[in-house]
Amino acid sequence: MTLVSISDILAKCNADVKTMCTAGPITGRKVDAMLRSRKRKSGPLTKSEQMARVRGADTGPEMALRRALWQAGLRYRVRPDIPGRPDLAFVGCRIAVFVDGCFWHGCEGHYKAPATNATFWSEKIARNRMRDREVEAALAKLGWTVLRYWEHEVEHDLASVIDRIRSEIVRLREDGARTRYKTSAIGREPNDQGES
Ligand SMILES: [Zn+2]
Repeated sequence: MTLVSISDILAKCNADVKTMCTAGPITGRKVDAMLRSRKRKSGPLTKSEQMARVRGADTGPEMALRRALWQAGLRYRVRPDIPGRPDLAFVGCRIAVFVDGCFWHGCEGHYKAPATNATFWSEKIARNRMRDREVEAALAKLGWTVLRYWEHEVEHDLASVIDRIRSEIVRLREDGARTRYKTSAIGREPNDQGES
């Protein structure tokens, strides 16, 4: 056990108080700078942005996609209980949509390995990518079509993402209409429930 003298503790407190005081009050200018810095710029994510994008959170790109689909009149279900819990799905035509974070899924253009614990992170991203493939296989087995989009596509090319989703829905609905008479329905066909 180490003994800490009272004077050491006091010196430490004084040092802490000094740092607090030098930080000064937050001026209007500082607030503006803070707000500006919260706006997302393109390019590699900063470490804190990466950490904020924990899978499962409703991230900006997911919300932007949901809003745009809704505006386009396409009704989806959010995170249905199927393998991989896709970000959203069109249940009637069995389309599962994933928005892959550029960091968490290792986008070639934007993934930048953090400087610390590089091995840990590269292994983690590799595991994520492996799990993506497993989820795709599991969904395909159940008759689902999987559509994956990078976060950067949703952020910079949302209209094209919406177009691609829409044409896939149209294609699968036409296929479904053609083959429906051949197969006896297994169970009840679920309907799109819109945003849940
Ligand atoms: Zn990217």
